[in-house]
Amino acid sequence: MIEFLVSFFVSYVIHILGVSIGYHRLLAHRSYKCPRVVEYFWVTAGYLAFQSSPIWWATMHRAHHRYSDTELDPHANLYGWRRSIYGWIFDEKYPDHVDPKKCGKDLVDDPFYKFLDRGGRVQEAHLLNGVLCFLFRFALLALFGLPIALGSLCAGLLMQQVTLIFNKISHMQIFGYRNFETTDDSVNMSWLSFVTMGEGLHNNHHANPGSANNALAKGEFDLSYMTIKMMKLLGLTSWVNDGSAAKRSLNKSRMTPVKVPVESNL
Ligand SMILES: [Zn+2]
Ligand SMILES: [Zn+2]
Repeated sequence: MIEFLVSFFVSYVIHILGVSIGYHRLLAHRSYKCPRVVEYFWVTAGYLAFQSSPIWWATMHRAHHRYSDTELDPHANLYGWRRSIYGWIFDEKYPDHVDPKKCGKDLVDDPFYKFLDRGGRVQEAHLLNGVLCFLFRFALLALFGLPIALGSLCAGLLMQQVTLIFNKISHMQIFGYRNFETTDDSVNMSWLSFVTMGEGLHNNHHANPGSANNALAKGEFDLSYMTIKMMKLLGLTSWVNDGSAAKRSLNKSRMTPVKVPVESNL
């Protein structure tokens, strides 16, 4: 049991950082720069959490930001629970308005990501991801035994569910508060910040998508950004957008506080 729990906890932390630091803040938003080997490490950590093709993930997420909460947002809440959580991932191909060659120019020529994307055949890319995720756990089973493999598998599957459900609830104003009057429905959920390593501060992120730091107000914390800061200390990043401009704009706007109505967007 102890082996399972340790494997689960360690795997969860590595996978959530892979999604947050690798897929999200690096691939989708380029909020910091690092050597290719570091990028591949974090992206692989995210990939093994059933997150599918890095090109698909990053370009769909860029579309989410560009068209937040409109009909062109891949997982907009206006599509209802089923589609906004799970339905959108079952589309056969990229939507017409999401062309990776245009909105993922920095990703499409990378041989590793290109291989995982299967030429834009989304379901084939998901299938490959599932197969490789399970093969990885079989390797763990052969090398370290069942509790370790099972702990890793459960953490990866949980991470996938957390990501999908997060897309939904992070745009429901009943679950959080807003520091910025963005045109979308994004909210900050401090209560989810620890489990999501700072991703819970989603309204801060939508207002400042280029910032590697989501903790912009007093009392907010962002474990992913702390990890990026630690990477910087170790010389593993060459440039980081630390969010200082975003913090200044927040402080400025707080001099004339604006009450943002809290209501359900369902
Ligand atoms: Zn969002
Ligand atoms: Zn984002």
